Amino acid sequence: MSKNKSPQAEANKYAVLWKTMFPGQFPVDVKKIALEISGKQNDSIEGIKTFSELGYGDIDCEGMLYYVQKDNRWFIVYNDQSKRSHNFTLAHEFGHYCLHRARHQKFQCSIGDIGDKNIQDLKEMEREADTFASYLLMTIDDFKQQIEGQQISFDLFERCMNRYETSFTSVVLKWLEFTHLHAVLVVSVDGFILWSRSSRTAFKSGIYFKSGEELPEGSFAKQKIDHKSVENHNLPVAAWNYSYPVKELSFYSEAYEQTLTLLIFSGVDVDKYDDSQEEIEEDCVDRFERFNRN
Ligand SMILES: [Zn+2]
Repeated sequence: MSKNKSPQAEANKYAVLWKTMFPGQFPVDVKKIALEISGKQNDSIEGIKTFSELGYGDIDCEGMLYYVQKDNRWFIVYNDQSKRSHNFTLAHEFGHYCLHRARHQKFQCSIGDIGDKNIQDLKEMEREADTFASYLLMTIDDFKQQIEGQQISFDLFERCMNRYETSFTSVVLKWLEFTHLHAVLVVSVDGFILWSRSSRTAFKSGIYFKSGEELPEGSFAKQKIDHKSVENHNLPVAAWNYSYPVKELSFYSEAYEQTLTLLIFSGVDVDKYDDSQEEIEEDCVDRFERFNRN
């Protein structure tokens, strides 16, 4: 198996297959597709169960893919007690099966840091499995149809979350992949930026935020001590450091104790692109790797 399988291309194959077999049907039934696809392999996925079914209670693991050599079979176990999207977790584990099973026999996936000496390799595989899940569950053409002509709002993203059975963060990250708006998702904890992701348009215009930066004083995210949410909140120019008008959508996630903020800048000079920033983009991608499953 090639080490360099593209997660996007692999996931697209199965997304197209799903679309052909079940036109217009969402969410993608990952269990069904994983068993069907792997069933054509000698080392198929034999079963998909929850940790509860196996007698494990409170466990700090979102999902697991492991190999049983004597049977030449793979098994997926996922955490049905977790508040995170089960469908995304299943798609992530199926991603490991499709992309990485020649490299490891056990994948134990959680949100936190990966304590292992081969951390770079593991981080890369985790990121690829997340990308695979994103592309399997949310095709860009269908996503575009869902949001066409509508104002960006929490309600809109929530409808997409329900359609694809995935998380708010996953939905917003997918939207950022193709939107032409100058938009940035900022995830913060206790007033400091944990990670952020700019749309390509925003990034090319030099609009991005680094992890560890303190939130601007004038931002709603900074002031949200009472944990209220806000939508389309028009802020003064430069409230978020850049000299453009900006709208802020922000809410506090009690489940993750994080503030999620979507910024939409307007009136941006589109010619202000700096090639030297590409490296920073990669760096930002690296930082967010495990958090996009929230
Ligand atoms: Zn994983």
